Amino acid sequence: MKKQDITDIKTLLQSPKKIVIVPHKNPDGDAIGSTLGLYLYLLKYNHEVRVIAPNDYPDFLKWMPSEATVLKYDTQTEASERLIEQAEILFTLDFNALNRTGDMEPVLAKSEAIKIMIDHHQQPDDYALYTYSDVRMSSTCEMVYHFIDMLSDVDKIDADIATCLYTGIMTDTGSFRFSSTTATTHKVIADLIDKGAENAEIHNAIYDTNSYNRLQLLGCTLSNLKVLPEYRTAYITLSQQELNNFDYKKGDTEGFVNYALSLQNIIFAAIFIEDQKQNIIKISLRSKGDFSVNEFSRAHFSGGGHTNAAGGKSDTDLNETVEKFISILPSYKKALNNE
Ligand code: 5GP
Ligand code: MN
Repeated sequence: MKKQDITDIKTLLQSPKKIVIVPHKNPDGDAIGSTLGLYLYLLKYNHEVRVIAPNDYPDFLKWMPSEATVLKYDTQTEASERLIEQAEILFTLDFNALNRTGDMEPVLAKSEAIKIMIDHHQQPDDYALYTYSDVRMSSTCEMVYHFIDMLSDVDKIDADIATCLYTGIMTDTGSFRFSSTTATTHKVIADLIDKGAENAEIHNAIYDTNSYNRLQLLGCTLSNLKVLPEYRTAYITLSQQELNNFDYKKGDTEGFVNYALSLQNIIFAAIFIEDQKQNIIKISLRSKGDFSVNEFSRAHFSGGGHTNAAGGKSDTDLNETVEKFISILPSYKKALNNE
């Protein structure tokens, strides 16, 4: 972010403003952590702030500080639209294209608020007056820390803000093991612990709240795992029926695709999850090294994300989607075997 942008934003935030903060649809730990962290920071300057999520998120995020104040656009549409219409500043966090907010897109596009993007995904759109985009960053939560630092306000980070930011850095880095984790990430994490983030408690709240059903669903997922050694690829399918068998709840499949990527010699992994309600197959893609699942998803499955983690969707059924996936692989054979 340019020095001038920071100066402008500092001036902008000097007097109380009406502010709305929006994460992407199906928000994850980084999306909720970054929006709530920024929310709690802005409250300290007496702004009127609200986080509005496009839709609900998993229960394992529902313990986060001030989480209960988050509005959900899909079920609280009128209240959300009123706030967005009145907003003077609109922060968009952890996404970089307005269509990532689903049905909120036209409302956000119409808003005359000053838009500020903070995000670490590839290929940002040009909708914000101020764009803080950095694809090398581990997480949007790490960027919110740097953003607050650029505003010379690291001292304003209290235990609640630290807890929110720690959570998102932890979830987006697979607990600090993905290659996006840098020495700076660890320095930020160290400071967040100093400021009161309870690391062991946060890990427990996010990862150790499995239901019996979720573990059984994981068993089913692992038995559906298929390997295509000639493409160094592994994939998993989950049908709606299988999800129903284990009383699927939002977030239950989080991280499952990583099991496919953990196989020896595998550098490309996919999970295809049937969603009968939306009538789509939701796809998560992961890779190791330079093979870009962002490019792959943009080219074939109407999605995007990062080089090593991306999402997408398909409008055909589960079998056809997998057939399409397998039929595309030969054209990537060289790239997959060069890793
Ligand atoms: P996940 O597979 O965990 O849903 O998402 C992996 C990464 O890709 C996340 O950073 C997420 O924000 C992004 N992502 C997921 N689905 C989509 C999508 O449909 N479009 C785009 N552009 N990004 C996505
Ligand atoms: Mn993120």
